Amino acid sequence: MGAVDDFTGSPPHVRVRAPGKINASFKVGPLRADGYHLVASTYLAVSLYEEVRATAKPGTPASDVTVSISAHSTLPEQQLASIPLDGRNLAVRAALLVADVSMNPCGVHLEITKRVPIAGGMGGGSADAAAALVACDILWGAGLSREELSLLGAELGADVPFALLGGAAVGLGIGDQLTAALAPIPLHWVLVQSDFGLSTPVVYGMLDTLRAGTEPDTPELVDPPILAALRAGDPAALAKCLTNDLQAAAIELAPGLAAVLSASAEQGALAALVSGSGPTVAVLATDGAHAAALAAKLSDGGFVAMAVEGPVHGAHRVFDS
Ligand code: ATP
Repeated sequence: MGAVDDFTGSPPHVRVRAPGKINASFKVGPLRADGYHLVASTYLAVSLYEEVRATAKPGTPASDVTVSISAHSTLPEQQLASIPLDGRNLAVRAALLVADVSMNPCGVHLEITKRVPIAGGMGGGSADAAAALVACDILWGAGLSREELSLLGAELGADVPFALLGGAAVGLGIGDQLTAALAPIPLHWVLVQSDFGLSTPVVYGMLDTLRAGTEPDTPELVDPPILAALRAGDPAALAKCLTNDLQAAAIELAPGLAAVLSASAEQGALAALVSGSGPTVAVLATDGAHAAALAAKLSDGGFVAMAVEGPVHGAHRVFDS
C-alpha cells in the first residue's frame, strides 16, 4: 500500500513506529585492535516506541531531507538538545539511503516523536533510523525487502537491523550478526529512566579500564538457559539469567544506578539490570499487574518508572485515526 494522500491537497505522508530495546544479556569480549569488541547479546524489543512521520515535499529534490524532533511527555525536553538536526541525524541518513535506491524520490520532512530515553542504552537513535527507512520505502514506493532495509540499516548502526526486526534476537559479532529468537509470550518490565545519558563509547572505555590486566573470554554464544526462559515465557527462570558485562562500567560512571537496582530489589522485582550501556534500568516483573505495581512504587520513591512489555514487533506502519 502506498503513501496516504487525504485528497485535501496535503502532501502524502506515512507514519511508522519502531521500538526501543533492552538487552536481557550482554557479554563483551576483549578490545580488538580495530577498536571493536565482540559481543553476544540477547535483544528484546519493548513497547516504548519512537515514531517517524515522513511527509513528501513534492517538486523538491531527494536531497531535500529535513527533520524536526519533539519529546513525548514522558521524556525530558532538555535532552533533545543533544540530537543533531542536520545530515548527522540517523533518520536523515536513513532517508538518503532509501532515496539512493528509489526510482522517483522527492524531498521529505521527517517529524520524530521521541519516547525512548536519549543516550539511554535502549537504541532510540537506531529506532529512529529503522522507522525512517520503512517510512521512506513506503512513501517513495521503493519496494525494498526487509533484508534490503536491514542491509541499509546496518550501514547506520549495529542496532538498526534489530529495530527493524523486533521481537527477540541474539546478536553476535559486533552486534551485527542477528538471529531471531523464539519468545512467544510477553514478559513484563519496568523501565527506570535517568535524567542524563551515557555515551556508549565512554562506557566501553570504562569497561576496558576496569578489566585492565585481565583476559576476558571472547563470547561466542548466548547462554542456552536465557533462550529457554524466553521460549517458555518464564520470568522467574529469566530472572536468574539476566546479565550485563557493561553494568559495572555504567555504575562506575553513574554511581546513582546502584540505588535504582537496590530499590528495585527492595520493592519486590524478580531482577533488575542496566540495559546495554545504560543508564536506563530494566526491571523484570512476574506479570502485567506486578509491573504496574512496581512502577507505581518506584515512582513514589522518586524514580521515573514506566511499565512496558516485550517482545513486541519491529518497525511497523501506523495509520491516522
Ligand atoms: P547507542 O545506540 O550508541 O547504544 P543509546 O541507545 O544509548 O546509544 P541513543 O538514544 O541511540 O542511545 O543515542 C546515542 C547518541 O545518538 C546520543 O548522542 C544521541 O543524542 C544521539 N541520537 C539520538 N537520536 C538520534 C537521531 N535520531 N539521530 C542522530 N543521533 C541521535
